[in-house]
Amino acid sequence: MRKFSTLASIVRTEGLAEIVEPSEVPWATIELVHTERYLSGLRDGTLEPAEVRRLGLPWSPALVRRSRLATQGSINAARFALEDGLGGNLAGGTHHALPDGGEGFCVLNDVAVATRVLQAEGRVRRVLVVDLDVHHGNGNAVVFANDPDVFTFSMHGEKNFPLKKPPSSLDVPLQDHVGDVAYLALLARWLPYAIERSRAELAFYLAGVDVVIGDRYGRLALTPEGLRRRDELVLRSLRTAGIPCTIVLAGGYAASPERTAELHAEAFRAARRLVRGELCESAPTPHE
Ligand SMILES: [Zn+2]
Repeated sequence: MRKFSTLASIVRTEGLAEIVEPSEVPWATIELVHTERYLSGLRDGTLEPAEVRRLGLPWSPALVRRSRLATQGSINAARFALEDGLGGNLAGGTHHALPDGGEGFCVLNDVAVATRVLQAEGRVRRVLVVDLDVHHGNGNAVVFANDPDVFTFSMHGEKNFPLKKPPSSLDVPLQDHVGDVAYLALLARWLPYAIERSRAELAFYLAGVDVVIGDRYGRLALTPEGLRRRDELVLRSLRTAGIPCTIVLAGGYAASPERTAELHAEAFRAARRLVRGELCESAPTPHE
């Protein structure tokens, strides 16, 4: 949990962004994605023991509050993105949450809820989800399975959690121990395809840092420098395509919460460089 507060203080200290505190998202709003059955169990603390085990976190009022705050945070961040071109949530990206239950530390699917809110308001129709967390984005794949307006792109460890990987619009599975060169080459190849096919008016970037070497759950081998280049590539590509980008954290399980927060901060530093025009249009691409 400490990665969240540590990241917030890095963002404050370095002046990376203006921080706006969210309120708890209304239950009726969450119903745009999640079932009434699941939400009443969550609200009243009456989830089945098997459901809590699948979630991987003990139920508590604080957990529910945190999940609702994080979800509203992604809604707010997407609104800022539509206004300014860039917004971010210092939490969120809980992409394993399914309509009828949470799993893998993910209680509510914030990106799915934010997408449905902005669609319902008529603010956007077509949305792109760029999910570079090391784990497959099964929740978004399920929520948007039959929605031609939402393009889901997941690049993830093939042998990693979750076991069942329902198809995204575009899945790029990776073998264990993939490093910077192979990873960035695949991203440079498939991200433009996803951007073009999506014709999106808004993007969510799930900037999980569990791709970095030494992550407790990641099984990949990106260096911090590779991570920095990944974030820059995504933000620059979306900017060039004229698509507003909402950064959400997703996973990260480095040796310490401080280290994890430091890695998450890279996406926000890259965002600031982008806003200041310090990211060159065509950064050198990695050579095989
Ligand atoms: Zn993950």
